[in-house]
Amino acid sequence: LVVLSKVNKHFGDLHVLQDIDLTIARGEVVVVIGPSGGGKSTLCRAINRLETIDSGEIVIDGKPLPAEGRELAALRADVGMVFQSFNLFAHRTVVQNVMLGQVKVRGKSRKTAEERARRLLDRVGVATQAEKYPAQLSGGQQQRVAIARALAMDPKIMLFDEPTSALDPEMINEVLEVMRQLAHDGMTMVVVTHEMGFARSAANRVVFMADGRIVEETTPDQFFSNPRTERAKDFLSKIL
Ligand code: ATP
Ligand code: MG
Repeated sequence: LVVLSKVNKHFGDLHVLQDIDLTIARGEVVVVIGPSGGGKSTLCRAINRLETIDSGEIVIDGKPLPAEGRELAALRADVGMVFQSFNLFAHRTVVQNVMLGQVKVRGKSRKTAEERARRLLDRVGVATQAEKYPAQLSGGQQQRVAIARALAMDPKIMLFDEPTSALDPEMINEVLEVMRQLAHDGMTMVVVTHEMGFARSAANRVVFMADGRIVEETTPDQFFSNPRTERAKDFLSKIL
C-alpha cells in the first residue's frame, strides 16, 4: 500500500533520512521505535508530505506523492495523521471538528457528515462529549477525538506519531485501546511509540530507526527477545 524507495532527506548538514526502503502492506501494523532524533517523525511527515524529500520515491496505493494542489489535499485525507499534540480546532466543538474535513475535503453534506461524526465519536468512546469544546476535554478524550477526525476522512492508512506521550499515565490506555481496536479492524497503521506493550501486542512488524537509518526490521517477538544489532540491544537495555 505504501512503498518508500531510497528516500533521503537532509536538514542542512544533517542527513535525517538515509536511503530509507520500507514497504507497508494493506492491513499491516508497523511500529517504529528508536532513540530521539533518529528520524521517526520526519519519516511520518514525509509519508504525509508535511515534509518534502530530497531524493527517492514514496508511492501510496500505486501513485507517487503529489507535490501540491487538489491532489495533495486528497492525499492528506487518504493518509490520516495523529500527532503527540492533539491539534484540534479550539473554536469548534468536538462534533464540528470531526465534521469539518468531511464537508470541506470529501464534499459530504452536513447531515451525512454529522451522522458519521457521531458514529465515530461513539466508536472511540467520547459520544457524550460531542457538544463540548476541545479545551473542556481530558487529553485522552482529545486524542480520541483526533483519531475520530482522521478516521472520518476514510483514510487508507493512519500514521500515529507518539500519540500517547503527552498524556497522563491513566489516559494512555484508553487511547491505545482505540488503536488496538483499529488494528484489529484491519486498518493499515504506522505507529511511532515508546509503548513497548503496544508494540509487542499489536504490531505485525517493528522498525527500529536510529541516526536516520532503518537499523532493524523484524517481528516484535524477534526484536524484543533477540535483537540482532548492538544499536538495538543498547536501546532496549535503556528502555525495558
Ligand atoms: P523523537 O523521538 O525525539 O521524536 P525523532 O526520531 O522523531 O525523535 P525527528 O523529529 O524526525 O526525530 O528528527 C530527526 C532530526 O532532524 C533531529 O536531529 C531533529 O533535530 C532534526 N529536525 C527535525 N525537524 C527539523 C527541521 N524542521 N529543521 C531542522 N532540523 C530538524
Ligand atoms: Mg518524533
